[in-house]
Amino acid sequence: MEKIEIKHHVSLKKLNTFGIDVMARNFASFQTVASLQEVLETYKKQTPQYKAVLMVLGGGSNILFTKDVDGLVLKNEITGIEKTGEDADYIYIQAGAGENWHRFVLYCLEHQYAGVENLALIPGSVGASPMQNIGAYGVEIKDVFHSLEAFEISTGNMVQFTASDCAFGYRESVFKNKCRGEYIITSVTYRLNKVPVFNTSYGAIEAELEKEKVSERTIRSIARAVINIRSSKLPDPAVIGNAGSFFKNPEISENQYKELQDRFPGIVGYPLGNSMVKLAAGWLIEQCGPVTGKSWKGYRIGDAGCHEKQALVLVNYGKATGTDVFNLSTAILESVYEKFSVRLEREVNIY
Ligand code: FAD
Ligand code: NAP
Repeated sequence: MEKIEIKHHVSLKKLNTFGIDVMARNFASFQTVASLQEVLETYKKQTPQYKAVLMVLGGGSNILFTKDVDGLVLKNEITGIEKTGEDADYIYIQAGAGENWHRFVLYCLEHQYAGVENLALIPGSVGASPMQNIGAYGVEIKDVFHSLEAFEISTGNMVQFTASDCAFGYRESVFKNKCRGEYIITSVTYRLNKVPVFNTSYGAIEAELEKEKVSERTIRSIARAVINIRSSKLPDPAVIGNAGSFFKNPEISENQYKELQDRFPGIVGYPLGNSMVKLAAGWLIEQCGPVTGKSWKGYRIGDAGCHEKQALVLVNYGKATGTDVFNLSTAILESVYEKFSVRLEREVNIY
């Protein structure tokens, strides 16, 4: 059994990819469900206001801290990847919630388990993957999700969630909405394909495969293409603080899309097949700015900014506070609404 230690006044700067300098009043990590239970028991005894904030942190790559955490921050370090079953078409793999997501993808590539190759190089933990139904290049976690186990904070019970219990949507799940803050996900079981079903519907993947002169499609060649594209386009949080896309791509009706197309012929939209169209939020942001004639793309105010290559990504150049970044996001939201009458929604979790 590991040693339980609750630390006090711990800086979270290195534990969030925005690099925002906030403090946790109390902080503990856990490596097993038993150690999680023990930490909570200890915290309960030490802290009269036990009901105060409990927050679980994975890789900190989808969170913007705007204040100190006046409670307990729990760092999930449950690791382990194991095969739990197999049938004619699928392999079932359970991974500890504290596993690094990309390490899990590499494990699948190594064993020829297909389904997560398009999701290579997404930062963060396995445990957060269902939280916003992570997605990239036409694949979402829901496509390979089987079930998860979670610790219910109010009862201390372990609960199993199936895919339908998770209510996955576009960058959404029950954990981001109705059940926010109620569960700590401890493991996730994925259902991976024995025979790959390649998804290269996103133009950038095809272009990269062509550029690299890849003649045979394999899960490895697709993962490599995704890794190349991502490495060339996205700001590395180790170099410049960010949490990936700050906003979701908004979905609007086909009618509203047609009206916008008449006014803005260059608008970028993808039909969703249900009378709705998904707009590229990055394009909308690029067309707006702090003043007429200036784009948000590449804009900087103090140490908060909108990335010069990817308008959807807000960045911390060094000493920005969470409030600086949040205020910039509000100004962007408002200007996009003013120009297009489309409301952007923040994808990043604001604390
Ligand atoms: P954290 O930031 O630690 O947590 C996020 C939220 O989940 C918090 O509210 C936290 O309390 C909660 N949470 C974390 N772990 C648990 C748990 N075990 N149980 C319950 N709640 C939990 N996302 C995509 O979907 N697609 C992408 O392509 C993508 N690309 C990115 C690229 C970059 C450069 C960056 C910085 C981010 C990107 N993201 C992307 C966002 C982010 O990587 C994912 O959302 C990731 O799943 C977050 O994992 P995390 O462990 O860092 O979560
Ligand atoms: P991109 O290829 O420049 O495309 C811009 C946007 O258009 C994307 O957000 C994507 O929506 C959408 N899109 C592109 N081709 C599409 C197609 N064939 N069908 C439907 N929609 C299409 O995007 P990017 O910024 O370089 O990102 C590439 C992928 O990685 C995207 O899937 C993106 O979501 C993901 N990503 C996510 C984050 C994050 O933090 N959430 C960060 C970086 C990258 P979708 O976003 O809905 O896929």
